Amino acid sequence: MTATHAFWLAGRQATGTETFDVHNSYDGRLVGTVAVPTEAQVEEAVAAAHAVVDEFAATPAHVRAKALNHVADRLLERTEELARLISAENGKPVKWARGEVGRAVSVFRFAAEEARRWNSGEAQRLDTDQGGQGRLALTRRIPKGVVLGIAPFNFPLNLSAHKVAPAIAVGAPIILKPAPATPISSLVLGELLAETDLPAGSWSVLTVPNDRMPALVQDERLPVISFTGSDKVGYAIMDSVPRKHCTLELGGNGAAVVLADYAGDADLDWAANRIATFSNYQGGQSCISVQRVIADAAVYDRLVPKVVAAVEAQVTGDPSDSATDVGPLVSEDAAKRVESWVDEAVSAGASLLAGGKRDGATYAPTVLADVPDDVTISCEEVFGPVLTLKKVDGEEAAFAEVNSSKYGLQAGVFTHDLHTAFRAHRALEVGGVVIGDVPSYRADQMPYGGAKQSGVGREGVRYAMDDYTYERVLVLTGL
Ligand code: NAD
Repeated sequence: MTATHAFWLAGRQATGTETFDVHNSYDGRLVGTVAVPTEAQVEEAVAAAHAVVDEFAATPAHVRAKALNHVADRLLERTEELARLISAENGKPVKWARGEVGRAVSVFRFAAEEARRWNSGEAQRLDTDQGGQGRLALTRRIPKGVVLGIAPFNFPLNLSAHKVAPAIAVGAPIILKPAPATPISSLVLGELLAETDLPAGSWSVLTVPNDRMPALVQDERLPVISFTGSDKVGYAIMDSVPRKHCTLELGGNGAAVVLADYAGDADLDWAANRIATFSNYQGGQSCISVQRVIADAAVYDRLVPKVVAAVEAQVTGDPSDSATDVGPLVSEDAAKRVESWVDEAVSAGASLLAGGKRDGATYAPTVLADVPDDVTISCEEVFGPVLTLKKVDGEEAAFAEVNSSKYGLQAGVFTHDLHTAFRAHRALEVGGVVIGDVPSYRADQMPYGGAKQSGVGREGVRYAMDDYTYERVLVLTGL
């Protein structure tokens, strides 16, 4: 089949000898046919990136900032088209896809700002002890080399932006590998990069099939791997390349804690609405969507009917309709997996308070209570529109429940008490604590990443820039 979407090899479009199709999971229609690079083309892209490591690192900051701002401008101009495309390839409701494009604009803008501030370095006096007398140290950050960015399907544009923009900001060449279910928005991002003056070899977007990824992962010319996806694949990659720098942004089973002081009607309405929205947005396919609601016994019985009503008010349907809150999952297989986990929980004694039905790839927003601790949905990341409710006694028990998970990405705590907020910040084993809201809040400039099995390292533009570079010190003697 002829490709409708070429990949990007060292800044130019190319096709290989094979293709694969991308389908919409809601109605099965063909969204596009994507070209696959041959092994020789992958080699060409890697060699081209490797060859421009020094040249790209030396590119003036204002040139990199201009390119980043150009991409931001063009993403903004093409927002509706890109939102429709993301919705088509991913199945996410178009209203959420518009938000995703807006976030990608911000990521490129932040990167442009950081590129200008970047690498001013610092001076450190060394005469703080005798051996350093007459010496001064100056620091500078140096790109580690070519970055291999591997992106997941659930935010196909924004999480690709989180790989690409910081790399450009520091002058590190990047090879981006989008997810097979959702490569087209990343290929459109390539169109915008191609409009800039960045060195040709400094970026590629390669639609390499998963079974050919090990060779790319192993390639010594790619010293940095920035991976976002499942813990299974992420840790397998890291274990296979112990000497490389790996950033792993992995899964979670985010908890929203509602404490006893959050007891007013308006408080509980706010908490219930946020919980219902963010356990279901993108069909629950966000690493920080709300999977576990942990509520103090003092508010539990009033919170539950509000959560159930708010979940049932979610509009499920065609993702291309702007009124739709919840679309299909990425595939029918994904929806069948979620269905089997809910069925397992119900068979083991959980109460089904809402949802529990599947229609093709769409799974209805679902609420479970009294879920045994040892069923799959209590232990693993559901990555679907399902939340579980748990009643606890007091703050300490609530925090212990959050920490009982093997994951630790973010947690939300509904409280008005500043002391509790600080205790939560200290006690919760997660990469981020959100007070007064669900765990699903993420600003693209803040440090973002996991504790425990949710990952290694941090994204958030400046933090990824740190990860892609190392500090080199210059010691001046005889001063
Ligand atoms: P996935 O692990 O199946 O795939 C992620 C990427 O890895 C894809 O591009 C895929 O093609 C690639 N890949 C697969 N096998 C590979 C291999 N052997 N070598 C190299 N690359 C390989 O994940 P997914 O289903 O696309 O995404 C969902 C997961 O991502 C969830 O677990 C979710 O929580 C996680 N996620 C985490 C964050 C975060 O920032 N922490 C953000 C979004 C999604």
